[in-house]
Amino acid sequence: MDQLIEKLRQNGALERNEWITLLNRRSRIDTDELFALSREVRESVYGKDVYMRGLIEFTNYCKNDCYYCGIRRGNNKAERYRLTEDNILDCCLTGYGLGFRTFVLQGGEDPYFTDGRLERIVRAIKKSLPDCAVTLSVGERSGNSYERLFNAGAERYLLRNETANGAHYKMLHPPVLSLENRMRCLRDLKEIGYQVGCGFMVGSPGQTPECLADDLMFIQAFKPQMVGIGPFIPHRDTAFAPKPQGSLGLTLFLLAIIRLLLPNLLLPATTALGTIHPKGRELGILAGANVVMPNLSPSGVRGKYLLYDGKICTGDEAAECRFCMQRRIERIGYKLAVSRGDCVGFYRKDLI
Ligand code: SAH
Repeated sequence: MDQLIEKLRQNGALERNEWITLLNRRSRIDTDELFALSREVRESVYGKDVYMRGLIEFTNYCKNDCYYCGIRRGNNKAERYRLTEDNILDCCLTGYGLGFRTFVLQGGEDPYFTDGRLERIVRAIKKSLPDCAVTLSVGERSGNSYERLFNAGAERYLLRNETANGAHYKMLHPPVLSLENRMRCLRDLKEIGYQVGCGFMVGSPGQTPECLADDLMFIQAFKPQMVGIGPFIPHRDTAFAPKPQGSLGLTLFLLAIIRLLLPNLLLPATTALGTIHPKGRELGILAGANVVMPNLSPSGVRGKYLLYDGKICTGDEAAECRFCMQRRIERIGYKLAVSRGDCVGFYRKDLI
């Protein structure tokens, strides 16, 4: 096995220049051997269980103009929608019947969803389904807002940092957005007590091995409970339309080394990975991922939450996605768990 991978496995950390070296010699690394190792590490913590999260894309209104994103404010071709509180609760109830015990509410940064409105929604879900976890993924908010939502019952928060490199951040975002504020949000979320997910797109325009090394250094220092990574995929109505999509090989490689870096991590095999390759999510699980996020959004709006071109499953019903996922996971020797699927070690009860 590669010396740096051995070192990573033993120390749980590498220096920045070592990350760069490792990334630069990826093509010479035996990935069969690497993935066998990352699966061994993943199975020592989570066994063969794959956790599923029901993804509810509840609004595609967004006040931001991120250059890569299909639902950016400036895209006037995007057909906008918002789900009502009742719609969202219905999705959760349907999902519960299908075995989901975690719901991820994701959306653009939509000012309609004030703290008060989001609190009501979170409270309603927790009241109807007290054995379920609620994950929010609604972008940058104030520390006070995160605190209110946590007190309403949200226990996890996904906020990809997108990149940990300041210059790269500016290439992906308009000047009103800053890496400093993104990082402030992540620190606030952690301090409040959420299980926190950061992450980035693989192969986003301008990304270099140095940028990825900065991402890995950040993950190493921040120690999140979740890391969401998936390939960048261009969207036809953005300035990045002509840019190439991120590679399958690099995404799988990063999943494996991130698993070695933080063995207890919740690591999803993302929809974007399933979009660039028909077996992308299965390959992600086989590289060390342990979470999948089938879509629970009502079928009428799925085709409107288009962050990138070619998104899969936009025509399916929740139950179809759920059972399709089960078949896929079982075919590769894993099993979908009916469980909240918390990060091992996060709650004291995990340690007992
Ligand atoms: N507004 C929320 C949710 C954003 S959508 C937030 O700011 O966190 C979730 C993720 O989709 C983003 O964090 C981004 O990493 C990813 N994404 C957006 N556009 C994409 C694209 N063109 N290709 C691949 N992933 C994309």
